[in-house]
Amino acid sequence: MTSRMKISLVIPCYNEEKNVRIMLETCRQRFENLDTDIEYLFINDGSKDRTFEELKKLIADYASEQIKVINFSRNFGKEAAMYAGLQQASGDYTAIIDADLQQDPKYIVEMFTFLENNPDYDTVACYQSKRRESALIIFFKKIFYWVMNAISETEFVENASDFRMMRKEVVAAILTLKEYHRFSKGLFTWVGFNTYYRPYEVKERQEGATSWSFGKLVSYAIQGFVGFSTAPLKIASLLGSFISIASFLYLIYLVFDRIFFGNDVPGFTTLASLILFSSGIQMVLIGILGEYIGHTFLQVKQRPIYVVKDLLESNGSSTRAHNDKP
Ligand code: UDP
Ligand code: MG
Repeated sequence: MTSRMKISLVIPCYNEEKNVRIMLETCRQRFENLDTDIEYLFINDGSKDRTFEELKKLIADYASEQIKVINFSRNFGKEAAMYAGLQQASGDYTAIIDADLQQDPKYIVEMFTFLENNPDYDTVACYQSKRRESALIIFFKKIFYWVMNAISETEFVENASDFRMMRKEVVAAILTLKEYHRFSKGLFTWVGFNTYYRPYEVKERQEGATSWSFGKLVSYAIQGFVGFSTAPLKIASLLGSFISIASFLYLIYLVFDRIFFGNDVPGFTTLASLILFSSGIQMVLIGILGEYIGHTFLQVKQRPIYVVKDLLESNGSSTRAHNDKP
């Protein structure tokens, strides 16, 4: 007799008080015919609303389900929440899914079936078949993927999301990457393994609001560049060499012009703009350097990626009674 498979669901929650219950109920519906154990890992990422209270109620109300609630001491970000969830996941397969129901749990069943039937693949990653975002954001995201793939050795698949299912070997590999600045899009491809990309249709958020602003997206993109490429550091050497050579040639020209033709270059304007131009470039390059030093600084301090305040667990028997329906 083969033992039952187990699927772990990692569900990061930030201000999702109105969604977590519907999320769990939707999952239960979708998984009705699935002959596996399900482990729900809710990570409350320092929500400012009553998400934690709701999650405690879920544990009480669904005593037969295997539910774990990891309550962070503050908001550490979705990346940290996913890391904590993956650390707790004990399933043969682990999936990451948002709490806001934008990602229908029915795809979990499809991803599981796919992995069961295709032993050659280790991960199924969903990408959005069409984005529900403004044209400007879509444009910036396109540019981001283009630049990222141009300067990094890790492949970045356009529109691929964190919505994915992995075998436990992949989870173990991801957990060996202990970097403080986590950029999952890169970490998932960095570990390798065979990934199958499948389209999915993203839905509107059930309740609440997205926590992404344009500024957050920009700093997330910078995380990606700094985390997965050292190319920006080389800009300084390239630009510096170019400017040095060009200005040296210009200098020779000026000296010749002065000696042989007696032309004095009149030029406060020239001088002022040259100085401003070159000091501007230097500032930018120091800024880039600063990003890398900042990353190094925070990594060297070896602070933990998150801090847990409470860890709650339902008594849900590990072999869930199968006829257990509400
Ligand atoms: N999330 C989180 N910590 C945060 C921000 C978001 O755990 O600091 C969770 C959030 O609750 C949701 C998922 O990450 O389950 C995706 O967030 P959101 O819906 O805001 O992003 P979007 O779907 O707009 O990309
Ligand atoms: Mg969302």
